[in-house]
Amino acid sequence: MDQVQQIRDKIDIVSLISEYLPLKKMGRNFKTPCPFHTEKTPSFVVSPERQIWHCFGCQKGGDAYTFLMEYENLEFPEALRILAKKAGVQIEEYSGIKSETSSKKEKIYNLNRKALDFYHYILTSHNAGKKALDYLLKRGVKKETINTFKLGFAPGNNRALSDYLISKKGYKKEDLLDAGLSTYRNGGIFDFFVNRIIFPLFDHRDNVIGFSGRILDSRQVSKYVNTRETLVYHKGEVFFGLNIAKEKIKKENQAIILEGEFDVISCFQEGITNTVAVKGTALTESQVNLISRFTQKVTLCFDSDAAGQDAIKRSLSVLEKKGITATVIAIQNGKDPDEAIKNDAFAFKKAVKNDIDIYDFLISKALSVFDKKTAIGKKKIGDEILPFIFRIENEIVREHYLKKISKELDTTYESIAKQVEKLNKKDVGNIVSLSPQDKKTRKEILEEYLLSLIIQYENPKLVLEKVAKILSDFMLDVLSYQKILSNLFLFFKENENFESNKFLRMLPTELFSGFDTCYLYPLPKFSDKEKYKEEVIKIAQEIKTLYLKNKIKEISEKIKNKEKNEEFDDLEKLQEEFDRTTSLLNQKIEV
Ligand code: ZN
Repeated sequence: MDQVQQIRDKIDIVSLISEYLPLKKMGRNFKTPCPFHTEKTPSFVVSPERQIWHCFGCQKGGDAYTFLMEYENLEFPEALRILAKKAGVQIEEYSGIKSETSSKKEKIYNLNRKALDFYHYILTSHNAGKKALDYLLKRGVKKETINTFKLGFAPGNNRALSDYLISKKGYKKEDLLDAGLSTYRNGGIFDFFVNRIIFPLFDHRDNVIGFSGRILDSRQVSKYVNTRETLVYHKGEVFFGLNIAKEKIKKENQAIILEGEFDVISCFQEGITNTVAVKGTALTESQVNLISRFTQKVTLCFDSDAAGQDAIKRSLSVLEKKGITATVIAIQNGKDPDEAIKNDAFAFKKAVKNDIDIYDFLISKALSVFDKKTAIGKKKIGDEILPFIFRIENEIVREHYLKKISKELDTTYESIAKQVEKLNKKDVGNIVSLSPQDKKTRKEILEEYLLSLIIQYENPKLVLEKVAKILSDFMLDVLSYQKILSNLFLFFKENENFESNKFLRMLPTELFSGFDTCYLYPLPKFSDKEKYKEEVIKIAQEIKTLYLKNKIKEISEKIKNKEKNEEFDDLEKLQEEFDRTTSLLNQKIEV
């Protein structure tokens, strides 16, 4: 495995990550908004000294390999191959290098590829697909389009694919189940997709990750069925058509997001090729993170029914959170883009060119529903719109819309602004923060901050001595930080000066990521060393206070319980402990 290290040494992590993300120099590190969670203020840090990256929002981090694996959704061997090529290192093919998940994923990709070929063949060249092919051609889907999107057909015989893959291609039943291509029923194995037109789903690297099947026969219950969750297919993380549209999306700096597969296909045939389908009702955070790799502008063109309009609103909160410009295409001549194009392709193209800012769109929608002349109508329009305006982070943009609304409703700007102030972030936020940072207790946050202050000080030994006096009697809540702290004490028994590499050699590997976190933690600026040291002492004391307060709470609860149950044996001991802890709380330590 020395080659892994050799390649890591040759790759500069800053230039590697720069190929994917715009990095900005901040002090000794580089920063950028994190690609793995939704944020606008950058908490993704890259350290050229340590050749690592870390996100303080979602806590992901690692080296060049882990970055590539996370960003491109690769397994280790693939990341190794790519980096070896970059580094100009010839890698020996290790047989043991493939992790078990990796080979499982690759197996599913291969199997899906075979299934795709099978479905596509049935649709285009087999009698069993004739009816479906006729249906598609009649709907106006051209043969070239069928080939471009690799559409297929799953025949009515409910074992056709399973039999083909098992007897002709030598796969096992379990493989088919793992890929979600078959289901297990009454002791037998059957095809998952039966009598359906197949839309394959690719990731942006052209792996076939799953399928969406649309019924031919409308008597059946569900019109669309998607591959169930597998190792490679996760609902809400893909777009239909991204593999085909991604270059155009980059070039145009705009992604048009539609609801369905046929919408994408109709647009594609009309030359509107920067389109993808959302494959669900509204955009998810994962999808917004994915699309933001290709563009900073998203245009929503959902169905004109209530569900479609609702999806626009729900998508908006995720887009605003990521700071992506959002516009809307208002469909005039049909319930969805597919129908609108069939009715009047020219008008649809015009609507695409004249996409409307999403806030203007929402305002005009509300104005068309409620009567802006009556007091109750005005209130309803405000209730509908203001929660969205409230979330706009840019002050100038927000004011623009507040002014617009006050003009439309013929009220003063002040009363609109007051109404917005009344909105509480919590009330309007269906934005769920996924950042684990939020789940930390105050004490845990302070512990991370304290350790960062210590590690990043020019000579940690000097501040460590002060901290030791304050925190001598107890442990930090975060075990890994406690262990790092103990190791620091050990380190300075033998060393005068701090060298991170030397220190890391004595640290168990499972503590590396905790150390990296603190090493890169974005500290505030201090005007001088004294202020810095004061902060260290202040934080250490606050941690101690929190610890003691928790302890006092615990003891008094114990005492209360004992008294309630009339158990008087240990009561005296508890009372003593209570007194001792309370006096510690009031004690001032000179440092
Ligand atoms: Zn992150």
